[in-house]
Amino acid sequence: MTTTSKHPETIALHGGNWRSDPATGAVAVPIYQTTSFQFRDTEHAANLFALKEFGNIYTRIMNPTQDAFEQRIAQLEGGVAALALGSGQAASLFAVTNICHAGDNFVSSTDLYGGTWNLFLHTMKTMGIEVRFVDPSDPENFRRATDARTRCYYAETLPNPKLAVFPIGEVAKIGRELGVPLIMDNTAAPIICRPLDHGAAVVMHSTTKYIGGHGTSIGGVLIDGGNFDWEKNAARFPMLNTPDPSYHGAVWTQAVKPLGPVAYIIKARVTLLRDIGAPVSPFNAFQFIQGLETLPLRMRAHCDNAVAVADHLSKHAKVTKVIFPGLMTGEAKRRADAYLKRGYGALMGFEIKGGKDAGRRFIDALKLLYHVANIGDARSLAIHPASTTHSQLTPEEQAKTGVSDGYIRLSIGIEHKDDIIADIDQALAAA
Ligand code: PLP
Repeated sequence: MTTTSKHPETIALHGGNWRSDPATGAVAVPIYQTTSFQFRDTEHAANLFALKEFGNIYTRIMNPTQDAFEQRIAQLEGGVAALALGSGQAASLFAVTNICHAGDNFVSSTDLYGGTWNLFLHTMKTMGIEVRFVDPSDPENFRRATDARTRCYYAETLPNPKLAVFPIGEVAKIGRELGVPLIMDNTAAPIICRPLDHGAAVVMHSTTKYIGGHGTSIGGVLIDGGNFDWEKNAARFPMLNTPDPSYHGAVWTQAVKPLGPVAYIIKARVTLLRDIGAPVSPFNAFQFIQGLETLPLRMRAHCDNAVAVADHLSKHAKVTKVIFPGLMTGEAKRRADAYLKRGYGALMGFEIKGGKDAGRRFIDALKLLYHVANIGDARSLAIHPASTTHSQLTPEEQAKTGVSDGYIRLSIGIEHKDDIIADIDQALAAA
């Protein structure tokens, strides 16, 4: 079914080629819990391995449940194809190392999830890959950090705790001038932002968050925008434009041309996923399909509740500051309005009077909101970063990341807004 021109609510249910199970007529995508797939004959097997024909070989590399999920999320993000993986961390690793090897560098925003920060700064260093962190408040910082060995830019759409929306279009434009693709982590803003529409080349998600939506499954996904000319910038991308000795000399930009502009994502699947592993399990892919079906509905509920909570907190006597894209001013608000098209997201921070002790008392008094180090669950969540996720940082480092002693991070869920506010109010009274 052609659904590319349809609305997200429709794509979430019908996107991709899936209509029903060819063997049984089942409408829901089954969990194809199998490791391997029977070849029709030796010619079929040889064609699959030679990429002359596309089809299932082995679930580490592809599987029909994964495939249905990948097609749907690719369409929702406006991309051409996707690769589902076992975690968001695997997706970040694959996103960069698919085009960047020892001796190369890439430029990343400083405003990143801590796990991504560690992966880029420490683990990638052991692989000989250099990350150059730059402050995203000035997009030109990306240009200044670029040289001939720069393979990509990387950033989060809505990074917490600062929640300052990334200048996607501005940095994508600089990248396109220099032949450098922008990879966006859109974990915190599915549906409400489509980075590919603003010039990004690749999108990744930790599907663990809003896409799963129910806090049950770890997963990640990489989406190829199909909108970046890897061949035109051949000198910058030898991994896509020179013979790959691990695949009988395939030059990826040439080898997959008949399939469309999918060199990046096919290479990630047939080399990185083949060699490193980290596939999503068919069961978790099934969970993400269920999550996608209600994602647009849930995002609307998350965003509406978040506006109500932010508004309430901004008037509360015990709250000195609310950090929420919808309440920002100046350039930060302009970016929020330019890139968050269907709501301001459901993450927010606030500063409580009384600093660290009051922050801890607030968290300990919560009854409805869960105290967990996660975001994007259907349930409302809270954490006090200064005493948990950011406690190893010095006060100066904490300040740089946007965390103060009294900062509380909330991930607003889809309960009734009055019940969320009532729980926050009683915890503030106890703080
Ligand atoms: N990116 C962002 C923005 C995240 O918040 C997280 C996890 O919290 C990740 C990536 C990593 O995802 P996962 O936990 O699924 O590996």
